[in-house]
Amino acid sequence: MTQKLLEVKNLRTSFFTHLGEVKAIRGISFHVNEGEAIGIVGESGSGKSVSSLSVMRLLQFPGKIVGGEVLFKGENLVNKPKKEMMKIRGNEIAMIFQDPMTSLNPVFTVGNQIMEVILKHQKITKTEAKEKAIEMLKLVGIPSPEKRIKNYPHEFSGGMRQRAMVAIALSCEPDLLIADEPTTALDVTIQAQILDLIKGLNTKLGTSTILITHDLGVVADVCSRIVVMYGGLIMEEGTKREIFYEPRHPYTMGLLKSIPKVASDTKTRLVPIVGTPPDLLKPPTGCPFFARCDYAMNICREKQPPYFTINEGHRAMCWLLHDEAPKNELYDSQKGGVRSV
Ligand code: SF4
Repeated sequence: MTQKLLEVKNLRTSFFTHLGEVKAIRGISFHVNEGEAIGIVGESGSGKSVSSLSVMRLLQFPGKIVGGEVLFKGENLVNKPKKEMMKIRGNEIAMIFQDPMTSLNPVFTVGNQIMEVILKHQKITKTEAKEKAIEMLKLVGIPSPEKRIKNYPHEFSGGMRQRAMVAIALSCEPDLLIADEPTTALDVTIQAQILDLIKGLNTKLGTSTILITHDLGVVADVCSRIVVMYGGLIMEEGTKREIFYEPRHPYTMGLLKSIPKVASDTKTRLVPIVGTPPDLLKPPTGCPFFARCDYAMNICREKQPPYFTINEGHRAMCWLLHDEAPKNELYDSQKGGVRSV
């Protein structure tokens, strides 16, 4: 039977700014099974990165988890003492960030930085840690790792630095790897190589993975399940096939229309999602996508939709899925009333 490695239940995270409480995560629930790779997708400000920082308990002031649970191997991480969290981070859950240059320390060699993580979490000698560091660099495809281990980060290319970050993250064989926009700063070829690397580690080592990105195209090859976030909430969740071929939420459909397709002819126009995400200082009472949705009905403005189950594992938060949705009475944003279609 598939075991849940991570289970996030009704998680809420806010930032307490001088302007007021920014409700960045407004009650999200999702899980990651052992050995599974899932993708969390959404525009910037959707709450996807805040979710991963909340899971890792790496939120900086003024951010705070205000409710919910993060169950990792059945234990709630939300109330874990800092010391215990430090042991879990790196050892059992590791994270790769977007910009390897700011994550790597420029004054230490890459080898030293990998060894430091290994020595912190494992009871082995320095020589053994060095051997392991070389092994890790080899695993992530760095040529001549015995020589490269003595290099400083600036002597590595952007792609190699990101590979080094993956090596650091995996050096303690974590059960869960969280990669937050790991390829955004890289060119397309290197991007594909890093994604292949993450996919390979997931399939070969069985490392459960959460891949966070704004780009649906990035998760297509790596993840088996996809969570689509918007306005601090999960809009839709389903298998890769369901999200790509049977999307049920207008926001997911909009994201799909905005990515280029290899098979389409060069004249096919990409359709951007017009408008901006909601202000989470004053989150809308109804559907967060209301202001940008072509199918918005009156009820969408007034009431946040519940989740509608399409089939096991596929759910979406949209009033269109309600049996009695008045789909021929769309909201008229110009006049502020109903327009019949
Ligand atoms: Fe659009 Fe209404 Fe569905 Fe929100 S609930 S996505 S506004 S149709």
